Amino acid sequence: MKTLIKNVTILTMNEQLDMYQQGEMLIEDDTIIEIGKTCSGTYDQCIDGHQGILLPGMINTHTHLGMIPFRGLGDDCPDRLRRFLFPLESKCMTPELVYHSSRYAMAEMLLSGITTFMDMYYFENEVAKAADEMKMRAFVGETIVDFPSCDSDQAYGGLDYCQWFIPKWKNHPLITPFVAPHATNTNDLKHLQLASQLAQKYDVPFSLHASELDYEMDYFQKEYQMTPTEFLNHYHLLNKNVVLAHCIHINDHDIDLIKENGASVAHCLVSNLKAGKGVMPLKQLLEKDVFVGLGTDGPSSGNTLELFSMMKMIACVHKTVNHDRNAFPCQDIVSLATLQGAKALHIDHLVGSLEIGKRADFIIVDTDSVSMYPLYDPYSALVYSANAGLVNTVFVNGECLVKDKTLQKVSLEELKQNLQQDSSTFSKQALEYVKGL
Ligand SMILES: [Zn+2]
Repeated sequence: MKTLIKNVTILTMNEQLDMYQQGEMLIEDDTIIEIGKTCSGTYDQCIDGHQGILLPGMINTHTHLGMIPFRGLGDDCPDRLRRFLFPLESKCMTPELVYHSSRYAMAEMLLSGITTFMDMYYFENEVAKAADEMKMRAFVGETIVDFPSCDSDQAYGGLDYCQWFIPKWKNHPLITPFVAPHATNTNDLKHLQLASQLAQKYDVPFSLHASELDYEMDYFQKEYQMTPTEFLNHYHLLNKNVVLAHCIHINDHDIDLIKENGASVAHCLVSNLKAGKGVMPLKQLLEKDVFVGLGTDGPSSGNTLELFSMMKMIACVHKTVNHDRNAFPCQDIVSLATLQGAKALHIDHLVGSLEIGKRADFIIVDTDSVSMYPLYDPYSALVYSANAGLVNTVFVNGECLVKDKTLQKVSLEELKQNLQQDSSTFSKQALEYVKGL
């Protein structure tokens, strides 16, 4: 099946940032076979982009989709993770709720132009099942933590879960299972090493929260006289398969270690700002050519699962932090949401830019809304004027999943009803819990 996409401004996001005004792209099944001003090949169907912007699907490198029921709960509660999230998760989270939350969250991501995500949570088999049904490109990692949690009555139960979960999904064409110790300070050294060995055994990614919290930094200073990054490096836990989420409190030496070991970073700016935690040194990381992708974090931390508001925030905050209007031009910001994200997950040979031979993961953003006129520079329009509601069309691996801003394979209303039914008990318990804080 060949599909021609025409009447679009194409941002290829390749290394040369090739752009085609009034361009065309031809795909055959899951692959891009022609792209440019015009395409010469025949086609079976044609999509008129109505002068929208065609760009690669966005990549969300850090999230927790199962946490949809937590969205908006206790947003301003200090030390929410330990006082509120961990206990409530242990008490109330079920495989069914993770499944329905994940399907709903994937709908939200697809409708906002995200085609690939990296998720870490509990019951990740349910997330993988949901991703398979929703036809998204997914990295799914089972959380490992040093206390009994909703998926195990044993501390570190996630390690056993990984033993069957990873082989089960390892050869799926769109789904990559991985190992996800929760954080540097919620796993002891021995279990971090076991988790790392497991990731190496199956040759899958390894992702954890790192250099995120004040008390995490204090703990490593006191116990090891090292930063969390130095600790990971010292114990050979940093390598090219590692994705570090947050990295707010890293110094120049940490950045050198991340680069030397080939690890990647997920930048979750909105979540970090909302929690008052600080701002990751993005400029310094990019100057050292560290692979950095953008992450929404979970819906309880970042609230929305989209990268448009994130792109604008990244540009504004990092220009301000560096007192430099020239810094972080719009092309670089769009690249963080696309090609750089693909590099961070080592899938840039497949996705992240629109090039012949790559998979057909792409989106079309409408340009006919009130905030998008006049349109001199499509990169600027995407970063500063657009919003997630302008995403009109979304393809993943050659399949049309969103058309005319509507999900094509599932009904959003049905996903919402299923989630509402399954989360009613959770919601009651959660409200009681929050009242008691
Ligand atoms: Zn997180």
